[in-house]
Amino acid sequence: MKSSAKPIIQLNQINKYYSIGKNKLHVLKGINSTIHEGELVSIMGASGSGKSTLLNILGILDDYDSGEYFLNDTLMKNLSASKAAYYRNRFIGFVFQSFNLLTFKNAMENVALPLYYQKVPRSKRNKLALEYLDKVGLRDWAEHSPNELSGGQKQRVAIARALIAQPKVIFADEPTGALDSQTSHEIMELFKEVNRQGMTVVIVTHENEVAAATDRIIRIKDGLIEKSEKLELVMA
Ligand code: ADP
Ligand code: MG
Repeated sequence: MKSSAKPIIQLNQINKYYSIGKNKLHVLKGINSTIHEGELVSIMGASGSGKSTLLNILGILDDYDSGEYFLNDTLMKNLSASKAAYYRNRFIGFVFQSFNLLTFKNAMENVALPLYYQKVPRSKRNKLALEYLDKVGLRDWAEHSPNELSGGQKQRVAIARALIAQPKVIFADEPTGALDSQTSHEIMELFKEVNRQGMTVVIVTHENEVAAATDRIIRIKDGLIEKSEKLELVMA
């Protein structure tokens, strides 16, 4: 990351509550954080600490109750459904633990999906999808449906889908949570490569090996950031 990098994500005093019947659960209790362009960051914390809640807010999949979230200098607050969809489409790629691929579409069509929503013509989006499948090492699997792919291959397709619209940042919630350790390692190598090419990447994980592959760990405890630690650059 260049020292001149600009903030891509700024969080000021983010609070989030869930209503459970008459009770309110205070999940995020004033999150302050800045992530710069080009960073590769992990968010760690115990189960239930609010990691997914935070990532869903960052990914504009969910709203927050108070505070400010600036994405690329734009305040993400009280967005209409169409504005939220617009920013999600233009700024954000999201990768899930469970891949979330459409089973009735092949790998190429899954990767092309964000461009379908941008109304890119079919031939152009399929051509780009093949290029992105090539980037993740799956050019020969374009015609295969997700149920013909291994877990690691499915996650590669999901990463290609997250990249194809050239977002500002990729968010991944436990992207290796359903994978064995060798495959997890390969997926982290892919995220590192994506980051080396300039993409900002934020990964939620509870696995030390995954966090250790990133440049900085943001630790969440009971809805607050406990600490943020830069990892030493260790040449293997
Ligand atoms: P993590 O991803 O760190 O395991 P979550 O962000 O999923 O944690 O959840 C944080 C807390 O919020 C947990 O206590 C969880 O039960 C609660 N929670 C998450 N989603 C909801 C929801 N939609 N409604 C009510 N409570 C929720
Ligand atoms: Mg979670």
